[in-house]
Amino acid sequence: MFGPLVAKPKSSRKNKTGSWRIDVKPKFLQKNCIACNMCVMICPENCISGKEKNTYKNDPDYCKGCGLCAFICPKKDIEMIPEGEK
Ligand code: SF4
Ligand code: SF4
Repeated sequence: MFGPLVAKPKSSRKNKTGSWRIDVKPKFLQKNCIACNMCVMICPENCISGKEKNTYKNDPDYCKGCGLCAFICPKKDIEMIPEGEK
């Protein structure tokens, strides 16, 4: 009844979900970060990396602009900004 799934396991990294972003993107301020890793854990695209304080950043090719990282950051060190801003 159902055909085969289109997506293969572990194929999501090939889909550049950054193209899903509409209007906003996260900006990693790198000022008050405490390296708690919460943004890394919550990101549904697994596109945030960083190890030490104030080094965290995302990969815009895979960030879909959901805003979860900015919401969860306990130091408010991530801001959602308009797509055209730096
Ligand atoms: S907005 Fe943040 S949590 Fe959402 S996909 Fe982009 S980097 Fe990940
Ligand atoms: S959630 Fe905020 S404080 Fe924690 S690692 Fe990410 S940017 Fe740094």
